[in-house]
Amino acid sequence: MDNSSDLLVIGSGIIGLATAYRAHQQGQTVRVIDSNDRPVGASIQNFGHACFTGQDDLIQPVAERARSGWLEAAREVGFWAAESGTHVPAVTELELQVLREFAEHRGPEQVRLLSRDEVAGRIGHPGLPSIGGAHLPLDLRVNPREAAPALARWLSARGVDFVWDTRVTAVSGGTAQTSRGDYTARQVVACPGDQLGQLFPEVAARHGVRVCTLVMSLIERPAAVPADLALLTGTSLARYDGFGAMPSIGALRRELAAREPELVGCIANLMVTGIPDGLLIGDSHAYAHSPEPFIDEDVARLLLDRASAILGIGTPVVRQRWLGRYADSASTNLIIERPDDRTTVAVVTSGIGMTLSFGIADLALSGESVPGY
Ligand SMILES: Cc1cc2nc3c(=O)[nH]c(=O)nc-3n(C[C@H](O)[C@H](O)[C@H](O)COP(=O)(O)OP(=O)(O)OC[C@H]3O[C@@H](n4cnc5c(N)ncnc54)[C@H](O)[C@@H]3O)c2cc1C
Repeated sequence: MDNSSDLLVIGSGIIGLATAYRAHQQGQTVRVIDSNDRPVGASIQNFGHACFTGQDDLIQPVAERARSGWLEAAREVGFWAAESGTHVPAVTELELQVLREFAEHRGPEQVRLLSRDEVAGRIGHPGLPSIGGAHLPLDLRVNPREAAPALARWLSARGVDFVWDTRVTAVSGGTAQTSRGDYTARQVVACPGDQLGQLFPEVAARHGVRVCTLVMSLIERPAAVPADLALLTGTSLARYDGFGAMPSIGALRRELAAREPELVGCIANLMVTGIPDGLLIGDSHAYAHSPEPFIDEDVARLLLDRASAILGIGTPVVRQRWLGRYADSASTNLIIERPDDRTTVAVVTSGIGMTLSFGIADLALSGESVPGY
């Protein structure tokens, strides 16, 4: 390949890589440019939780395409993707009520209500302080530290050209200007994540794009806790749009504010997933255009204490902490725009980019949009 290709993808996060994967399958010549020398952005910092079920009704067709994309890529590339679903223990009657409403709304293929003993057994904590719960069987788990790097290696071995350590400074009409010269393509798909404003400042400004930072920890996994665990809690019910459409969600939000003011105060979505290295525990949410890099130890401890109580872990052994970051907008979860007829911008502006990635890739390449978004 010279400096020209059928498709030029900006960004080697999961959105860019999924787009490159789909275009490669279509037989296009593909080049991916990234300012880093490997994927190190949001796509490796997260829970590896593909939470299709919890997303809102409008986005479900994209979530379904994303799910097939993940399973297909995992099979072909050879990275881990567990079809173990998500478990949601309910610790109060209102949490259980939201789950009942959600089960009624989505049906048994997507939501299965569990007894207290069933949910306790599934998450490996017989003493779990819950009154019941639910299993969301369609959700998937991947290891975020494995999936994007494996996909990049696999694509590279099959002729996709990766131009690392190279910053794109401007894009229009099929030409990308970079710190190492110009590249041209029939189509350019820009997936710059939280750096959208550097490349397309008007798009970012129109959607009020900012950076969300999240306190995360990796702890050792006790043998009783399943390695493919994905656990959501009441704060997750209050956060994800699918649960958020249920009639009892307002009452649950008020209950959480009274019962868990510290979690609500740091805008927590208390959740846990397992990866081979241990358990990922998070997260809090803070918003800024230029966030400071510091991890608040009180927030980290709060999340660890609450997660440990649910899992029956006495003293968590912390292996790593980090401040994750992703692109956020208060007005939309998803930006897919076409500034000109050869350029597409694709950025997920909430914490659901792993979930939707392969579905967004299909939209970016086909030119389709999501009704209502
Ligand atoms: C702590 C945390 C927890 C999360 N949990 C979940 C979860 O459970 N489920 C879920 O679905 N999602 C989750 N997310 C969100 C998800 O990780 C993101 O939405 C997704 O990874 C975004 O992918 P991306 O490809 O857009 O961004 P990134 O992975 O950040 O990739 C963007 C890439 O673009 C490159 N780039 C940017 N600008 C330029 C430029 N000008 N020139 C060259 N290269 C450029 C960057 O170097 C980077 O490699 C979480 C995120 C975090 C941080």
